[in-house]
Amino acid sequence: MTKTTYVTEPFLPPLDEYIPYLEQIWENKRLTNNGPFHREFESALCDYLGVEHLSLFTSGTIALVTALQVLRISGEVITTPYSFVATAHSLLWNNIKPVFIDIDPATCNLDADKIEAAITPHTTAILPVHCYGNPANVEQIGQIADIYGLKVIYDAAHAFGVKYRGESLLRHGDLSVLSFHATKVFNTFEGGAIVCPDAKTKQRIDFLKNFGFANEVTVMAPGINGKMNEVQASFGLLQLKYIDQVIARRRDIDHRYRELLNGVKGISLLPEPEDTQRNYAYFPILVRPDYSQTRDELYQTLMDNDIHPRRYFYPLISSMPMYRGLPSVDAAGLAVAAQVADQVLCLPMFPELEEDVIEKICAIVSGAR
Ligand SMILES: *Cc1c(COP(=O)(O)O)cnc(C)c1O
Repeated sequence: MTKTTYVTEPFLPPLDEYIPYLEQIWENKRLTNNGPFHREFESALCDYLGVEHLSLFTSGTIALVTALQVLRISGEVITTPYSFVATAHSLLWNNIKPVFIDIDPATCNLDADKIEAAITPHTTAILPVHCYGNPANVEQIGQIADIYGLKVIYDAAHAFGVKYRGESLLRHGDLSVLSFHATKVFNTFEGGAIVCPDAKTKQRIDFLKNFGFANEVTVMAPGINGKMNEVQASFGLLQLKYIDQVIARRRDIDHRYRELLNGVKGISLLPEPEDTQRNYAYFPILVRPDYSQTRDELYQTLMDNDIHPRRYFYPLISSMPMYRGLPSVDAAGLAVAAQVADQVLCLPMFPELEEDVIEKICAIVSGAR
């Protein structure tokens, strides 16, 4: 029996390194509600990421749902159909109408040239994703938002630690939302955060994630319970000690894949984004019609060899039942996204992926076996 290789495997520091954190929690009996590890983790993340303010959450999805409440977003929001479902679901949970626009094939991010044509009197915000950790077109999005008076919330679930033009990618837009789910580059088992530029916004976020309590007797809004607990926060502090090592190993794997897959007929690799210090969150390939198999046949061939790639992102969010009927889901307007969704395959990418498995995967994709 050979071992199955999944698309990702969480990085976990040695078990004994968790124990001192748990001992401290058991000793001081602070389990949640902005405890000492929560505060320490927020400040350590601000330092590491190079951002001013950050508020921890139980998940990226709750952080997204809350971010929309923080800025009082309503009406219509322009977003991408090429993402994990949570991006658009966060809009439906706020009774906001998603307006999907097509993507740029070079980055798989929403095509900023398509934003203006999608703006209506009901548009209040843009919700782009830094897909695979590739920076969205932050300059153009920022300019359009300024001209039309729109808010910008980045779904930065893939963008932990990414730097663009020498500074944190998370410094763009009104808010950025991170996910620390087990499958992401950096994990707290489950978890997430909202990054914001000023203390006043951070306070509003902190109130909203704690039922809306501003103090013992004042509830400022119908908030939610989105608070990260002390176990998660302490695990995050430990995980943070390893993050540079983790990203360095991912970079080596990315380079190895590029070496071995470069020039395989019918396979395209996404170009490396410009001016970007990457986190190598995913390794997507595109299986073009001139490849020897269809995308789904290659998927099956890999599965038959105990390699579990994933079709991130297929199907498009816009094709799911809860989005059908929206005017913007018309396939003609989303032709690039539809094509990429039909061709994409994300190959295994995680720090403990071994060289012989990388070679095996590339041999299969190259048609050598
Ligand atoms: C993982 C992910 C989310 C959701 O994050 P959770 O922490 O799992 O709730 C949102 N958006 C994108 C693009 C993601 O990949």
